[in-house]
Amino acid sequence: LQDSYLFSTIAKKVAKFTEENPEKEIIKLGIGDVTRPIVPACIEAMHKAVDEIGTKEGFKGYGPEQGYDFLRDAIVKNDYKSRGIDVEKDEIFVSDGAKCDCGNIVDIFGKENKVAITDPVYPVYLDTNIMSGRDVIYLPVTAKNNFMPELPKEKVDMIYLCFPNNPTGTVLTKEELKKWVDYAKANNSVILYDAAYEAFITEEKIPHSIYEVEGAKEVAIEFKSYSKTAGFTGVRCAYVVIPKELKGYTKDGKEISYNKLWNRRTCTKFNGVSYIVQRAAEATYSEKGKKEIKENINYYLENAKIIKKGLEEAGFTCYGGVNSPYVWLKVPDGMTSWEFFDELLEKANVVGTPGSGFGPHGEGYFRLTAFGTKENTIKAIERIKKVM
Ligand code: PLP
Repeated sequence: LQDSYLFSTIAKKVAKFTEENPEKEIIKLGIGDVTRPIVPACIEAMHKAVDEIGTKEGFKGYGPEQGYDFLRDAIVKNDYKSRGIDVEKDEIFVSDGAKCDCGNIVDIFGKENKVAITDPVYPVYLDTNIMSGRDVIYLPVTAKNNFMPELPKEKVDMIYLCFPNNPTGTVLTKEELKKWVDYAKANNSVILYDAAYEAFITEEKIPHSIYEVEGAKEVAIEFKSYSKTAGFTGVRCAYVVIPKELKGYTKDGKEISYNKLWNRRTCTKFNGVSYIVQRAAEATYSEKGKKEIKENINYYLENAKIIKKGLEEAGFTCYGGVNSPYVWLKVPDGMTSWEFFDELLEKANVVGTPGSGFGPHGEGYFRLTAFGTKENTIKAIERIKKVM
């Protein structure tokens, strides 16, 4: 397990630059955290829930480990049934974040299972599997393969896919995703599908859930989060879908249900998300909530458009930014991601994230995020255009 230097190195470099250049205003387009406040529909729901638990009748102690019915019903109806996907309430497990879910899920897999992850990647998939002692193989995603990972040549048991992708901002069509579902069926593998950025999808043909692909319920676990969708990065709420059709096998060939295993694991190690937070998550599905959340998502998507368009005008090649808050750009030939970071900081006083921090195949790329204010995003891009 390697030390994680990425964000601490960035922080150190920025602190040094600020100390040496106190008059310069730095714009940070590196963070993956949202900045817009939680929408009124969710705030009102939380206030109401707080008042409720202060009464004798409304008090709540431990809730169901899997999540309250009101939220699981709302998820089934809004995130699945409305898209023609058949998911049942007892296939949904509400949690305090997709990061924990993506990490904790390894508890229900054998240690000898082989894991495939894309490179570059959200580091949680890699590190949690290294921590629990599994073999990991890498599937490069670069401009060469149009950011579409190639199927593994060997048999793997667990495959992490994340679309819209962090860090590249790229997506897969349903046809592309189907190849993975077919591979998983043929090889008895499980796909761990991270859809944390699903709310940013703008193009019709892009699937919002892996279960839009026929047969995916037999091979895939899906992770969703309210963090980027509704600004819950500090409030904390997410969920996992584990279909009942998804079966695994013990070493001696006995069939097992991942749904039952995860339920067992959840009841052992987790006491549920707070009632107040689950009411806030439920409010994201109200008419008012949907409208308010959409406005925030559109605000970030507009920033992504500004970044992509501005950088392309400045001669950069960019990926992502259409169905994602992330723009992944190719750094100029002959430069490393970190050299580009330094130059961007020094000349434009803009902070981004070097692609190599997300894995070896991220070298030569750079991530900018749309989570800043519109004013700062415009200002940052104007500066980049002027000096880079
Ligand atoms: N999955 C991906 C791909 C992410 O980028 C992030 C956060 O940046 C998460 C999951 C974490 O989500 P949560 O805030 O629900 O833990």
